[in-house]
Amino acid sequence: MKGRFLRFDPLNSFAFIAGSLCLLLGGFAASAQTTTKAGSMRVSRTVKTAPSDDLRIIRFTSAALKNKDQLSKLAWSFGGKLQNGWNIYVPLISRSMGTAALPDSADFASALADWQTKQGLNALGIVDAETMSKFVSVWQAQRQFRYLLPDADRLISAPIDEFFDQTRSPELLKLDSETYSAYKKMIAAAERDLGPQFQAGSGGKYLSIISAYRSPEYQAALRRKAPNSSRSALAKFSAHSTGRALDIYVGGDPVSTKDANRQLQVETPAYKWLVKNASRFGFYPYFYEPWHWEYVPEK
Ligand SMILES: [Zn+2]
Repeated sequence: MKGRFLRFDPLNSFAFIAGSLCLLLGGFAASAQTTTKAGSMRVSRTVKTAPSDDLRIIRFTSAALKNKDQLSKLAWSFGGKLQNGWNIYVPLISRSMGTAALPDSADFASALADWQTKQGLNALGIVDAETMSKFVSVWQAQRQFRYLLPDADRLISAPIDEFFDQTRSPELLKLDSETYSAYKKMIAAAERDLGPQFQAGSGGKYLSIISAYRSPEYQAALRRKAPNSSRSALAKFSAHSTGRALDIYVGGDPVSTKDANRQLQVETPAYKWLVKNASRFGFYPYFYEPWHWEYVPEK
């Protein structure tokens, strides 16, 4: 394991240099011993080198500096588009790694290195483009979404006061019945944890439903209205056509993919609560749209 931390890698030369200095200034000079025994010379290094914990701290302090620098800058791509930084995905990344450490901390870098090892990635503790692609594939796999059209008898209408827009057409209140009961349980738990403003239906906006089931005809009409839109919400076949995808209000401009808007959304208590708790109720996120959650019942 120690070899992992001592290996030279050009991306992390600070850790290497700092580590070498430590070895020179610390235990190394005292640890090289020469012994003569029965006419033969044997050179041995005792184990009295710098403790690996020190090296680990040095290594991950360096990784943390890199992460801090790249939080808003890292160039990576998703959906054929260049993405800028990984700040928006901090709650999901932290959840996936099981850490509450701040993204620019050595503890975070250390937890990331463990996650990278499990995923077969180079355990640098640095969020790079390859690491982001891996996170995205893990998140996308959780959706396990089946693009099936719902049976008509599984679609029910939710009360209009549970919607973000309470002037919504009665045609647009439908969703899969099992998805609706899971949503209701989830909202009740959020209200217990976060307070009454998180109860959709009591005038609270947070966690209310922005959009649920969309018929293929309605989706086609949306596409005709905005033919140049690249939003996945307007994809030819939407997850919303299953009745199991919900757009849920988490703050800001309800469904704008602008980076600044998504950044605001992922910092709200409503979103953070969903990231930590939604899977208990069978809901999984579409990582790119903080408001879009899909019900994937356990088989
Ligand atoms: Zn959606």
